[in-house]
Amino acid sequence: MGSVRSLYKKGTTVLSCEIYPPKKEDEFKNIYAKLDKLAAINVDFVSVTYGAGGSNAGKAIEIADYAKNKAGLEVVSHITSVGFTKEKLEDGLNRFKDIGIDNILVLRGDRPKMMTDEEFNARDFSHASDMAEFIREKGMEFTLLGACYPHKHPEAPSDEADIYNTKKKVDSGCDVLISQLFFENEYFYRLQDKLYDLGINAPISAGIMPVTSAKQLGTTVTLSGTTVPEELSSIIAKYGDKPEEMRKYGIDYAIRQALELKERGADGIHFYIMNKPDLAEILLKEMRS
Ligand code: FAD
Repeated sequence: MGSVRSLYKKGTTVLSCEIYPPKKEDEFKNIYAKLDKLAAINVDFVSVTYGAGGSNAGKAIEIADYAKNKAGLEVVSHITSVGFTKEKLEDGLNRFKDIGIDNILVLRGDRPKMMTDEEFNARDFSHASDMAEFIREKGMEFTLLGACYPHKHPEAPSDEADIYNTKKKVDSGCDVLISQLFFENEYFYRLQDKLYDLGINAPISAGIMPVTSAKQLGTTVTLSGTTVPEELSSIIAKYGDKPEEMRKYGIDYAIRQALELKERGADGIHFYIMNKPDLAEILLKEMRS
C-alpha cells in the first residue's frame, strides 16, 4: 500500500503539492504534462482537490488516476462530504480505491451556492471527523489526512475549540494533518505546539502558497481567512502591477517561509502551486539545496 504516512520520518521534511482539476477544457488537457513534470522533479506526493458536493468528481478521479498510474506519483485524493449520504461517500471512496488510491484527505467542504436545502439536509456527515470515523468503522484501508487551520477555521468560536476539534479528527482516524495556507510562521508553530500539548503524534504539513500576482489575494487568500503581514502587503503594493517583479518577490517570500519551517523541523510542507509545476520546481530546488 502506498501510504504517505510512511514518508514522514524524523529529520525529514516531506515536500508535497496541491493540484486542482481545471474548469476549462483546454487547461484540463495540459494537466497531464504538468503531472509528468511534478513526477520528474520528485515531489513526494500530490494532492488532488475535489469540488464540494462532488461537482468535479469525474475530473478529480481522472487526474488522480493519471498521476498515480501513468506519472507514477504518490497521490492523496481529497473528498468532501457536504451533502453526502453514507452510500454516496462509500461509492466515491470505492471509485478511488478502484484506481489504486491509498490516501484520502477527508474534508467537510463548504455548502455550494447551487446546493438545494434538500440535498444539504440529506447529509450524513456534519464534520470531517465523522467521515474519518465512518471510514474506520467500515474497515476501508486508507491512510486518512485531515485539514488544520493556523488562523483557526473561520466558523470556530475560538482557537481552543478549533484545536480540540482538530484533535477529534486525529482521534477519529486521521493519520496526517495538512494546514491551510498562512504567511506568518508563528501561527503555524503555535498550532503545532497546542496540538502536541494535546498529545497528537500525527505529522503536520504546513501549507505554503507563493503569491505571484496581486489578484490571488482577492480570491484564495481572502476565502482562507488568513491574515497578510505588512511585509507581504508592501510587496504587493509595490509590485502588484509589475508581473515579473511580483512573481520574483512573491516566490522569494514563500522560499524564506518554507526554509525557516524546514530549519525548525516541520514534518512537511504542502505547496499550493495553483497548477504551476514551474513554481514547484523552483521551490523544491531551494528546499533541497
Ligand atoms: P471540519 O473539520 O468539519 O471543520 C469545520 C468547522 O467545524 C470548524 O470550525 C471546526 O472547528 C468545527 N468542527 C470540526 N469537527 C467538529 C466536531 N467533531 N464537532 C463540532 N465541531 C467540529 N474544500 C473543497 O471543497 N475541496 C477541497 O478539495 C478542499 N481541500 C482543502 C485542503 C486543505 C488542506 C484545507 C485546509 C482546506 C480544503 N478545503 C477544500 C476547504 C475546506 O473544505 C473548508 O475549509 C471547510 O470549511 C472545512 O472543512 P474541514 O474538513 O476542515 O471541516
